[in-house]
Amino acid sequence: MTAMREALDSLLIAAMAAADGDAAQVWLLDTNPPESLTLAASRGLADGALPPSVPLAERPLDRQAIAAGFAAAATGTPILDGLAPDIRTTLCLRLGSSDRPLGTLHLYTSRSLPIDPADFGRLRAVADLGAIALEAARQAAELEQVEARQTQFIHVTTHELRSPIAVSQTLVRNVVKGYAGPMTEKQQFVFSRISAQLDMLEMLVNDLLDLAASRARGAASEGPVALNGPVGRAVLLLQPRAEEKGVAIEYRACRDEIVVKATEEGLDRILINLVGNAAKYTPPGGRAIVGLCQTGDEVFVTVADTGIGIPAEALPHLFEEFYRAPNARSANITGTGLGLAIVKELVERYHGTISVESAVGQGTTFTVIFPAYHLEP
Ligand code: ADP
Repeated sequence: MTAMREALDSLLIAAMAAADGDAAQVWLLDTNPPESLTLAASRGLADGALPPSVPLAERPLDRQAIAAGFAAAATGTPILDGLAPDIRTTLCLRLGSSDRPLGTLHLYTSRSLPIDPADFGRLRAVADLGAIALEAARQAAELEQVEARQTQFIHVTTHELRSPIAVSQTLVRNVVKGYAGPMTEKQQFVFSRISAQLDMLEMLVNDLLDLAASRARGAASEGPVALNGPVGRAVLLLQPRAEEKGVAIEYRACRDEIVVKATEEGLDRILINLVGNAAKYTPPGGRAIVGLCQTGDEVFVTVADTGIGIPAEALPHLFEEFYRAPNARSANITGTGLGLAIVKELVERYHGTISVESAVGQGTTFTVIFPAYHLEP
């Protein structure tokens, strides 16, 4: 449920409870001319009881409520006949301040006027709190839209960058191999540097694409996935290169199938980043140990290494985009500083947590905890 829907539903429930209402509605103001009120949420009234949107001029009660902040209309006979149980009184309150009205809150009751002043007081308080919640939800929705546009921009631009980088890489590699004629040692050196920079650029573009993918909401739908697959795959994929470097990767595999709610692709990204880092930041002769286990309702994935470690002052920044600890930079280990931001985004999306313990020169342990997914027996 969106934050706005949640705020609207809570407001209706609270309003009906505050003044013993039989039905309630929230109408939101659209200030684009011609000004209109749109029915945003309704409780206790039949669907379609009122038109979904009406010009403000046609609802004098609301105009009055928006101007004065409060109005009550009562008739001896039921109003909204047939739409709700015996409604006799409408209480109508402005939502938001007079200089920034958001709309109106309507409470319908089968009681006749006068309404208990204590009910008015409670309803006013509910309307004020509700308006704050609605404003916050609206801002959150706007922010989400801006973020989605940003993510889309990153996705499109990085995608477009991919092929020129790949073509340049091939050309430069061919030149280095001598296909364009013999080169002096100096030229060899310069072209090798260019090639390394292009590798770095490719890594950055791939990480940015991963970041955009991990942020894109509503992409692949989540479902039960056995974590054993992605953990085992990451170890198998990264083992050869780690061994070449002199780093052993051990996998303490568990025999049981451990299931979480996620996407296979997202879990692969998490594991490849964490295990890849463990191998990358561990000097030759060291080890990386990957563990997977379940305790009750929690699933634990641990990736420990005997590598360079992370200074204590770097730990709070580790999951920020583009952050790299000073010892990683000074050791000239290449990286973009995006991997852990991607990991955190994905872990949280799957309702998990990630934590890190580290000691410089001794090693690092990342622990990811996911809620276990219980398959139907
Ligand atoms: P990078 O591409 O730089 O590896 P990450 O986002 O994956 O980016 O990691 C951010 C930083 O966290 C790294 O630059 C490094 O300083 C530190 N880091 C991550 N994993 C480890 C590890 N296993 N051991 C030591 N430092 C690590």
